[in-house]
Amino acid sequence: MSGADNGAPLRVEGLSLLTSRDILLDRLSFSVEPGEALALLGGAGAGKTLLLRALAGLSPKGVTVLGDIHIRGRRLLVTQDGALDPLRTLGAQFTELLARQSGMDERTALRRAAEALERFQVPAAARRLALHPHELGEAMRWRAALALAMAAEPALLLADAPAAALDPTQRVRLLSDLAAWTREAGTALLLAGRLQPDPVQAGLADRRLVLAQGRLGEPEAKPAPAPPPVEPAPSGPPILSVRDLRVAFPLGRSWRGEERWLTVVDGLSIALAEGETLALLGETGSGKSVLARAILRLVPPVGGQVSWLGTDLAAAPPEAMRRARRDLQILFPDPLAAFDPLMSIGAQLAETLESLQPPRSAADRAVRLAEALEEVGLPAAVLDLHPGSLRPAEAARAGLARALLPEPRLLVCDEPAATLDGVERADFLALLRAIRRRRRLALLYATQDAAEGLRVARRALVLLLGRIVESADSAVLAAGARHPYSRALIAAAGLARPALHGDPPSPLRPPTGCALRLRCPLAHDGCAQVPPTLDPVAPGHRVACHVAQDGPPDGAQNGQTTP
Ligand code: SF4
Repeated sequence: MSGADNGAPLRVEGLSLLTSRDILLDRLSFSVEPGEALALLGGAGAGKTLLLRALAGLSPKGVTVLGDIHIRGRRLLVTQDGALDPLRTLGAQFTELLARQSGMDERTALRRAAEALERFQVPAAARRLALHPHELGEAMRWRAALALAMAAEPALLLADAPAAALDPTQRVRLLSDLAAWTREAGTALLLAGRLQPDPVQAGLADRRLVLAQGRLGEPEAKPAPAPPPVEPAPSGPPILSVRDLRVAFPLGRSWRGEERWLTVVDGLSIALAEGETLALLGETGSGKSVLARAILRLVPPVGGQVSWLGTDLAAAPPEAMRRARRDLQILFPDPLAAFDPLMSIGAQLAETLESLQPPRSAADRAVRLAEALEEVGLPAAVLDLHPGSLRPAEAARAGLARALLPEPRLLVCDEPAATLDGVERADFLALLRAIRRRRRLALLYATQDAAEGLRVARRALVLLLGRIVESADSAVLAAGARHPYSRALIAAAGLARPALHGDPPSPLRPPTGCALRLRCPLAHDGCAQVPPTLDPVAPGHRVACHVAQDGPPDGAQNGQTTP
């Protein structure tokens, strides 16, 4: 199955994987040259992981492998969990691997290990070698896993969706460091995963393959990404008004007996008019999801006020509260988790209908449920299915159908397309936009994908550690955000390397002054002394940054900030 070849570290000819009932991979042929980065794209279930495991010689039991896999030199597979041995220090794992593969002595191996970590921007690399994987944050663990793989100098690196769960800002930096190193070292890289928009255009890969249902095909015919919505600014009084909202979680008492709190939303104020759309952008820990949930009182605030149609929800009489519960609906990141696995979709949607006033007859309910599914592009047969038998795209649409049943006026979306990829994701967002326009729904859209948020909403807020650092029309941010953090988010969403250093600070120990200053390429001494306030820089555009308030940073494009 494997053997020497004409110089390509990987050449695959007519590779098929079969079970007694299915063709899992169907006659795949391709090669990867030394120093070439080949992106392997495809939706969930396309067969990417299966292919990488087959190339690593790890096909599952009961699977027949046909065709030829020619591998020249050492191959290494980095699995989706970036597996490191949890019981051994990083140093021990590096020295063992390098001794086994290259006969390296311990001292040389540790030096090589520190150099490898530095290639992935790990600060104080030599000291980290004494740590166990569980003592590292998620981003650091991924850097260590990829550094370990590259230190072994493989001829072929098979990377299965590395760092998929990291924020785009960290993930894109990691992948661009990896691609730079494999090119320099002459390692052939087969990089599978969700890489959008185009990894070749972004410079992360030299070529791409698209796998769909076990076959290699043409690149997906994606609808062109929609530009930021150009809609007239909504007029009229706000229907939702959030004033100085604070959400904090108790952390127990310090050794001095003082109460400690983790502040997640720190005095945020927003207002939303009828039919208005607002994106909440930020990395994990920015507070966007907690803010979205606190508005619906799914998370209790510790301060501030949320008013719906002029009524403070904390003190609303029962009738106003019932109305608000109907008017405000939410879409969660994992739609399946929001359904009861033991009940059919139809039964759960009917339950939602039954809870609404006025009550409907059974026949009327059946018609309404069929209409609800039709509106989201699902056949009525889905009503008879249980959540577990839905594909992710169907589950997202079923969740949307349920949220629309009460005829809400505001839809709060918390990463509603998180489980979707490629065409399915684009289709779902197009559907959401169309329904929103048709129903004149107000929309609050929380996402870590800045490009997506800017396409969905007319206006956007960028959040960092629970505070707004920039707010403007989406078109203004897309054309040239001012805050270094906003620029980094937008750059990473386009797979361009963001101009930020290091990892996000712990919300338990935020830096003094500006919360971005330890990662910011424009930081100066004053940034450590005085926290910037959110001030207007143009009509409708506010920024919290000492430098950006004086004018757009050098470097015209988002993310390409000149220090
Ligand atoms: S205030 Fe300073 S550290 Fe903060 S974003 Fe602006 S330049 Fe960077």
